Amino acid sequence: MRASTCVVCHEKEAAHRCVQCHKPVCDDCAFKDDQGVFCSRECSAARRSYDQANQRASRAKGSRSVVVAVAVIALVIALLCLAYVKGWVQLPGGAAPATNAPAANAPAVEAPAAAE
Ligand SMILES: [Zn+2]
Ligand SMILES: [Zn+2]
Repeated sequence: MRASTCVVCHEKEAAHRCVQCHKPVCDDCAFKDDQGVFCSRECSAARRSYDQANQRASRAKGSRSVVVAVAVIALVIALLCLAYVKGWVQLPGGAAPATNAPAANAPAVEAPAAAE
């Protein structure tokens, strides 16, 4: 297996691979920073802006899903309020509007034990 030659000086054997463009680069020509090893300063800058764009995109995506969740919750609450106002659902405690609903506080009729 032939070792790659540095793409910068074309003389020395490559010891690293650029994190950004994956080109082989020797230890002398490698540009190292906190993100890794690059063949050039330009690749490091490109990687940095790429990462920042990615972070921005994921942040935007995250806030978008939060907005969607809030919208869904608001919609559910609005529907519940509408259903309550329309009398489709009745809250326990006799707070429901008594339009044509049967008397909710009438005692439940129990069959008498001796009905013969
Ligand atoms: Zn080199
Ligand atoms: Zn590169």
